[in-house]
Amino acid sequence: MGKINIAIDGPAGAGKSTIAKYISKTLGIIYLDTGSMYRTVALKAMRSGIDTRDPEKLAELVKCIDIKITHLGSEQHVFLDGADVSKDIRTPEISIGASNVAVVPAVRLKLVELQREIADKNDVVMDGRDIGTYVLPQAGHKFFLTASLDERAKRRYRELQEKGIPGVTFEEVCKDIEYRDINDSTRAFAPLSKAEDAIEVDTTDMSIDQVIKKILSYIKLC
Ligand code: C5P
Repeated sequence: MGKINIAIDGPAGAGKSTIAKYISKTLGIIYLDTGSMYRTVALKAMRSGIDTRDPEKLAELVKCIDIKITHLGSEQHVFLDGADVSKDIRTPEISIGASNVAVVPAVRLKLVELQREIADKNDVVMDGRDIGTYVLPQAGHKFFLTASLDERAKRRYRELQEKGIPGVTFEEVCKDIEYRDINDSTRAFAPLSKAEDAIEVDTTDMSIDQVIKKILSYIKLC
């Protein structure tokens, strides 16, 4: 039997990771947060003094980048060059950097290779921007989550506060999300877009429970 592949795409703050984590727990399958991989490339670039918009240098950088993903239950940990960077990649600067490096085809090709390898070997729910359209076009279940910009910014702001990441205003979060929305959906290679066969869910006025219920109602595993 083929592996279970569930794709959840959508813009920042639409609720993808919360829902994907819940599905992973409920179904006992791996959750892969592909955004964390782009964030890790951005972290490596920034630590190496490379501009996150320099395609040539980034193409060189990803040739020998060492990114590993491990799972402790439904918790994902990302390792860069052997060190756990799961917390370091959650800053606003890295969010912007990730969106910049994600434009570069060489970066995407490298990370997509890793993502497909994981989906090949494991039952997985994967969240990102291009999972249903490009990474796993054959996925058995595809969802596209959206929400209004204001609602998404509110969620992201709350999340940053809960994680104790200081010094970021609501306006900054809003700008960051707007920048990434445009950057992610206008890039030439594997942009953020809904797969034709994905189910779209607007989560603006929905509680997490309602979204989970709706998504699970579409997932029938035999
Ligand atoms: O999901 P998250 O906000 O952590 O993703 C950070 C950035 O990584 C996104 O803004 C996007 O530019 C990029 N990304 C992507 N394709 C994916 C996942 C993330 O381009 N599959």
